[in-house]
Amino acid sequence: MSERDVAIKAVNLTKKYGDFVAVKNLNLKVYEGEFFCLLGPNGAGKTTTFLMLLGLTRPTSGSAWVCGYNVITHPIEVRKRVGFVPEAPGLYDDLTARENLAFTANLNNIARGVRERKIEELLEKVGLLKWADEKVGKFSRGMKQRLAIADALVKDPKVLILDEPTAGVDPAGSEEILSLLKTLTRDEGITVLMSSHLLHHVEKYSDRIAIMNRGEIVRVGSVGSLTKGENVIELELVEVNEDLVSRIRELHDVKSVERRGNKIVIVADEDIRKEVLEAMSGDLKKVLGMKFIPSLERVYARYVGEDAGGS
Ligand code: ATP
Repeated sequence: MSERDVAIKAVNLTKKYGDFVAVKNLNLKVYEGEFFCLLGPNGAGKTTTFLMLLGLTRPTSGSAWVCGYNVITHPIEVRKRVGFVPEAPGLYDDLTARENLAFTANLNNIARGVRERKIEELLEKVGLLKWADEKVGKFSRGMKQRLAIADALVKDPKVLILDEPTAGVDPAGSEEILSLLKTLTRDEGITVLMSSHLLHHVEKYSDRIAIMNRGEIVRVGSVGSLTKGENVIELELVEVNEDLVSRIRELHDVKSVERRGNKIVIVADEDIRKEVLEAMSGDLKKVLGMKFIPSLERVYARYVGEDAGGS
């Protein structure tokens, strides 16, 4: 690989099942230490992409490199460096958290002398030290996912790939998982590539996002670049006066202002709620409500369309 800081690279990666194209000419670069999210509806091809990157499914055409190793010719080297957390992690419910990690440490030939301390450190890192000796069968889905992350970290991977790690986890549990992943990228330089449906989480934590639909990446970029010009502010007033509409129109970053009955709908490059309120000055008591429509949701809906249902 020419660029030193590219952790994952895919070039025209394609997977066909018979005539059906599950992943089509996928081109992707994920940089070292980046938190990258593949966002897409069911069936978009996210899992298939991950399986190819892990050398677990052979691409029909195209190529990919992870940590500089070609996934087709050097799958073992790739798997040595990549921790994978599948959607349904294979943990043993009748073993404790500590025993589960000990099992994986054994499989990875972690020396006996360091094993116990390493397991202790990993349990602490994922916030499960208190439950170290509890059977995993009793854990919530969020706790199981965090244990699965610890399990994937046993071999000190440079890259973590996680398939829908927050699916079926409650909002507080999802926050814990995502902030843990963010810490791993920031403090340990681990590259995180995960898939998700959760737009608002993705918006908050990811460095970059790729929107995937029907096997193709349709948009890629930072949250800021994807949502530029997509911030919608809906202002509901007792009555709308033209003077106020003109004042809002003159604000920096405003793309369009539209009057809809007693509402003013503003589309802006940035989140300018504060500036809008400032522009109201004397009219503030006429405000009935202000709604900020999450911009990434609009971008996602536009690219994924009807397939976004339920996301
Ligand atoms: P989900 O969130 O549902 O897992 P996904 O984005 O991960 O969605 P994939 O699991 O990669 O999507 O599936 C992409 C498409 O490829 C789907 O239409 C799926 O039915 C199809 N597919 C996946 N694996 C196979 C297979 N082994 N044989 C035939 N078709 C498959």
